[in-house]
Amino acid sequence: MMMQQDMQQILFTQEQVAARVREMAAQISQDYAGKTPLVVGILRGSFIFMADLVRAMEVPLTLDFMVASSYGAGTVSSGKVKISLDLQEDIAGRDVLLVEDILDTGNTLSKLVAELKSRRPASLKLCVLLDKPERRTKPIEADYVGFTIPDAFVVGCGLDYNQLYRQLPYIGILKPSVYEHP
Ligand code: 5GP
Repeated sequence: MMMQQDMQQILFTQEQVAARVREMAAQISQDYAGKTPLVVGILRGSFIFMADLVRAMEVPLTLDFMVASSYGAGTVSSGKVKISLDLQEDIAGRDVLLVEDILDTGNTLSKLVAELKSRRPASLKLCVLLDKPERRTKPIEADYVGFTIPDAFVVGCGLDYNQLYRQLPYIGILKPSVYEHP
């Protein structure tokens, strides 16, 4: 497949990701039975995971998106989070499920969670495809985690390097040479 030569290792194949996302959707559907959650995706990284997740969910739900980022062009977090597109929905009284591609240092998500909690949702849970607990600097954990991964820079399933590789249907570790000699 195109761009596979840029991968050092494939961590999770398309089939493994699809199977895990289906399991997560089943668990979430059970937990939200009788409710109509508002599923909030953080753009751009969550779009593929979120699309797969909600299509496998069996409760009625509504969707909204936010644009937030803490990464520039590099692979090291800048420590700042910027909300450049806010929600269209009022989340007061809603059961909000925040969906993100990856929980890394926790810097982005801890700030977003604090902001969203201040808007008084009935509940707020966090769902991430990937978790890198080794890198955490903020006291935040996700309620739903697809895969726990080691401290490596990964791409695919929505995750980018310099806006590339988001389309890859698997999760891969990029060869360091790709970002050391772009
Ligand atoms: P945090 O604020 O938790 O450090 O970082 C969250 C954001 O950093 C994620 O939404 C994602 O955009 C980016 N990020 C963190 N780790 C990785 C990674 O391994 N690969 C890619 N492509 N992005 C990452």
